[in-house]
Amino acid sequence: MSNTPKAIRGTQDIFGAEAEAFAHVVETFERVRKLYRFRRIEMPVFEKTEVFSRSIGETTDVVSKEMYSFLDRGDESLTLRPEFTAGIARAYITNGWQQHAPLKVATHGPLFRYERPQKGRYRQFHQLDAEIIGAAEPQADVELLVMADQLLKELGIADGVTLMLNTLGDGASRDAWRASLVEYFRAVQGDLSEDSQERLERNPLRILDSKDPRDQAFVAGAPKIDDFLSGEAQDFFGAVTSGLDAAGVAWTRSQSLVRGLDYYRHTAFEFVTDRLGAQGTVLGGGRYDGLMESLGGPATPAVGWAAGIERLAMLVGEVGPQDGHVVVIAENSGAEAAALRTLKQLRSVGIPANASFKGNPKRRIEVATKDGASLLLFVRDDDDPRGLYNFRSMLREGNSDDLLAMRVRAALGIE
Ligand code: ATP
Ligand code: MG
Repeated sequence: MSNTPKAIRGTQDIFGAEAEAFAHVVETFERVRKLYRFRRIEMPVFEKTEVFSRSIGETTDVVSKEMYSFLDRGDESLTLRPEFTAGIARAYITNGWQQHAPLKVATHGPLFRYERPQKGRYRQFHQLDAEIIGAAEPQADVELLVMADQLLKELGIADGVTLMLNTLGDGASRDAWRASLVEYFRAVQGDLSEDSQERLERNPLRILDSKDPRDQAFVAGAPKIDDFLSGEAQDFFGAVTSGLDAAGVAWTRSQSLVRGLDYYRHTAFEFVTDRLGAQGTVLGGGRYDGLMESLGGPATPAVGWAAGIERLAMLVGEVGPQDGHVVVIAENSGAEAAALRTLKQLRSVGIPANASFKGNPKRRIEVATKDGASLLLFVRDDDDPRGLYNFRSMLREGNSDDLLAMRVRAALGIE
């Protein structure tokens, strides 16, 4: 074992109940995105580095210290995707997906960030992602938030998860707010964290997102976006909040909410919980009207969100028992072929079935029991005068899985 290579720090090998919870999150997302008519897309795991550096912003944590970038054998700088949106924007431009606007798309898969690994924070993690591209209307923001809300409800984790909502205003509102933030933080510069002292001139909004207590002491008193919102930006935000109210989605205003990426305009939001310690943001997103232009594309309004699958899976916890299944056991070696035929018949009509083929019959029953079988089906060879099948219910009296037994009998033509 000592010279077996170790897994890369911050990656996970997911198995058992955790893997079932992970799959349950993805399956629920797939169901909900179809319900909302989002089209499925598949995206490359890596892109040219500039796809991310030009859009996410050079001064963000993601670009300045978290990207997995490398030169490939053709000396091109490539980066393992740290998020979905930039790659989707690149694809929208390069494939001419404008013809489908407004385009509702969804995807999920692995992302890579060089972060300090801890519970709920990994270097390879996984996200669900939903975007509406080519829609400037606040109804698009509402649609995405209603969908996120339904997803959390269908996962059974909406209790204790709060939608925190903010607006960052339009370009003009944001610039005025930014100038006022620089002035405010400059006065206390020496008391800020080293990171924030550096962010001050280049990216003061980032200070609002700082988790350092030295910065947080000043965040509460910082200038608020509401004092800088243009009439248009106010109307936009008003339309989003009244849409949420009409759809029955609860929300809480958070005036200091900014997101970890630079491209957001207008709406910004996070669904947060206190059940995951410091890693409490399960889903986040917002409007990114300026992003396409930063990649050299035409001005294209868009809005989207991403959710951490691992964090959702932790909240989901144990996924309830799977449907009952039958385990097929050949009684002797002459019955192997009949057992295979039986398994195929059961599965072809949608009955969950497993084989138990390791060791003697006693051992096979043990394995099946451990596997959680609700029904054992012993198969004899074709010439056995006692008939082909022998059933044994594995459930306690009065709790037997009668429906499963009936289905099995019907599938195999047993009286
Ligand atoms: P955080 O503030 O927790 O670092 P973020 O703002 O960097 O989050 P986003 O880029 O908005 O996160 O990603 C959306 C979601 O993806 C997060 O809300 C979280 O659930 C999940 N996520 C982000 N980074 C990680 C990570 N390193 N490991 C696991 N999940 C992550
Ligand atoms: Mg982060």
